[in-house]
Amino acid sequence: MSTNFLSSKTALVTGSTSGIGLGLAMALARQGANIVMNGFGDHETPKAQILAQAAPGVQVAYHGADMGKPAEIADMMAFAATTFGRVDVLVKNAGIQHVAKIEDFPIEKWDAVIAINLSSAFHATRLALPAMKAANWGRIINVASAHGLVGSPEKSAYVAAKHGIVGLTKVTALENATTGVTCNAICPGWVLTPLVQKQIDAKATAQGISIDAASKQLLGEKEPSMQFTTPEELGELALFFCSPAGNNVRGVAWNMDGGWVAQ
Ligand code: NAD
Repeated sequence: MSTNFLSSKTALVTGSTSGIGLGLAMALARQGANIVMNGFGDHETPKAQILAQAAPGVQVAYHGADMGKPAEIADMMAFAATTFGRVDVLVKNAGIQHVAKIEDFPIEKWDAVIAINLSSAFHATRLALPAMKAANWGRIINVASAHGLVGSPEKSAYVAAKHGIVGLTKVTALENATTGVTCNAICPGWVLTPLVQKQIDAKATAQGISIDAASKQLLGEKEPSMQFTTPEELGELALFFCSPAGNNVRGVAWNMDGGWVAQ
């Protein structure tokens, strides 16, 4: 792979103040892309982390749009275009989880998970496509999940949203198949981020076991490898989709999950 093949390009990564999104933004910046960060909480520390790994000359901007609000997504896309000219790489990554049985699932949690995990990808994609098509180059990467390919109990909204985003990925890829715009999904298994740490902590508390035991149990239920995937490994997959070798990779949902969905 040639060095800095994303220089002079711009990548917008939703939910990049933490976890997987931060790892993806760091990888894209390493290959020379300017970054538009998004997400809640402190953004100065992750911004410094991105810049520390970035290729020379990379700039990082931040927009705090709430991915559950279409008007704020439109504002973020306009901000990216004004700041850097255009979005060449769109990574829809921001996501939330809520765990409950269907009959107990709070309606407002269902609506929030669908809005943030699924509808935000539709809004960002529809707003990014015109400039990508005009340039005849673009990469849309949707962070789905192993839960975009298989289900688990008590995660109805999350699994529905992630299966939905795999479908949206295929349609986006097909509608642009004769252009230089590709769309693919990344389907991680367990990645040790704040989103998963909360689930491990809840398991430990519920069963009165240590964090380490809860972590091993979580992995053992799903992943034959008994290993977490890392944001760095996912970053390399995103780079492959963006590289010249990824030119004709269209509409895949690529699992990086320690064997989770191979079973
Ligand atoms: P995380 O909690 O570490 O990070 C989530 C990011 O999204 C943060 O930057 C947060 O501020 C942002 N965010 C949350 N709600 C938002 C909103 N309404 N608007 C804007 N930003 C918002 O989580 P993570 O584990 O890094 O998850 C990132 C993505 O990866 C999610 O889509 C998640 O479903 C997916 N995923 C995670 C795992 C895992 O094991 N961690 C596995 C498969 C898929």
